[in-house]
Amino acid sequence: MSRELIIGISGLRGIPAENLTAKAAEDYGRAFGVFLKESGVREGRVGVCIGRDSRTSGPMLRSAVTSGLCSVGVSVVDLGIVSTPGVSIMTKELDCAGGVVITASHNPIEYNGIKLLLGSGMAPPREAAERIKQIYLNDEFDSFQKSGQGGRSKNDHTDEIHIKKVLGIIDRVSIARCGFKVVLDSVNGAGGRVAKKLLAELGCEVIAINDKPTGIFAHEPEPLRQNLGQLCEEVKKNGADVGFAQDPDADRLAIVDENGSYIGEEYTLALAAKYVLSERPGRVATNLSTSRMIDDIAGPGSVIRTAVGEVNVAEAMLKNDCVIGGEGNGGVIDVRIGPVRDSLAAMGFVLQLMARERLSISELVAGIPAYHMVKEKFTIEGDLAEKMLDEAGKVFSDARVDRSDGVRFDFSEGWLHLRRSNTEPIMRAIAEAEIADKARGYIDMVLKIRDKVMG
Ligand code: MG
Repeated sequence: MSRELIIGISGLRGIPAENLTAKAAEDYGRAFGVFLKESGVREGRVGVCIGRDSRTSGPMLRSAVTSGLCSVGVSVVDLGIVSTPGVSIMTKELDCAGGVVITASHNPIEYNGIKLLLGSGMAPPREAAERIKQIYLNDEFDSFQKSGQGGRSKNDHTDEIHIKKVLGIIDRVSIARCGFKVVLDSVNGAGGRVAKKLLAELGCEVIAINDKPTGIFAHEPEPLRQNLGQLCEEVKKNGADVGFAQDPDADRLAIVDENGSYIGEEYTLALAAKYVLSERPGRVATNLSTSRMIDDIAGPGSVIRTAVGEVNVAEAMLKNDCVIGGEGNGGVIDVRIGPVRDSLAAMGFVLQLMARERLSISELVAGIPAYHMVKEKFTIEGDLAEKMLDEAGKVFSDARVDRSDGVRFDFSEGWLHLRRSNTEPIMRAIAEAEIADKARGYIDMVLKIRDKVMG
């Protein structure tokens, strides 16, 4: 990963000790405030909710962003340590003009970031993100500095409101009747407190590990197989029904089955969708890099594929009245809760499916057609990357092609998605097929095309 300060579509990301300084954070807060004011949010609604994950640089960045916002006349509501979906929910709940989450999500512990949300609870679309970046880089603050200062208040109702929303769309009683034993690994991030409360409401016996929001991550924070050995062990040792792993800002959820086996993040959305669609048939939105399992579950023509990025999925869900959506990285979105990925909603749906089907996680997984996914990434500069995508189009000319984000090739036996990173000179290749060799074969072909293009 680059160690530069990255000003991306979802906000600012860097290393507080090196480049994500108090000055940078204050200016970014100010730029967001100016953006909200110039976009004409109605008078009296220029307030912003701010929450943070548990990283130790969080208090410094929160204070700096708060100063920046207040200095251009925006009032700030401090939510304390809460999840990313928690901030999104509160932004709408409190009728704020925007939200800020101080988090670097699943990135390594030395990173932090400032993620922005609009009043809708969603990340800004590309145009808005570009405008905020422009204000930030050009110091376009002057005209608003004279408009008076915003105040600061606190609100600690995020957990209860979030839980109420989740309980509003699942059947608490039928889950509680099962008395599930759950091991929860919150990586000492922001999600432990609220998840424990939700699981208690659902009548679960909870064994919580790494549930203190110290910001000292107990393992590498991304909820991947190689980082969840402790959770797998605890599930086995305690004879639990399921293990849940959250990332530090608790928007993603990974699952461990009753045998202590990590089932892969792609299954979180698959299982959640299986439950939701059986109750409320309808459409699903997900990105181009997500497993074909969702197509099998939702049925032909029911899946809307979008460019990668949470906001693209959320927008497609709202536009097409989707009943469920999300990403293959363990991100489940139900817009009735909020237009963001939510590990709590995901937990609720998975437990509900277990309760209704009276099946274990491994049995539920066995009931979904399995695929093999292979991922690869490599460095390639702009022009060559474009050339490579063209060349791939010629090689895979028998495939159905989607060019809405890089290129996705759909074959009868699988698919391949080639996509350039927005922030680094990197190409990502993801392939999936029923047969592992087939998926590997797509990737091998991509590497051959790369070698040819790069000479
Ligand atoms: Mg996250």
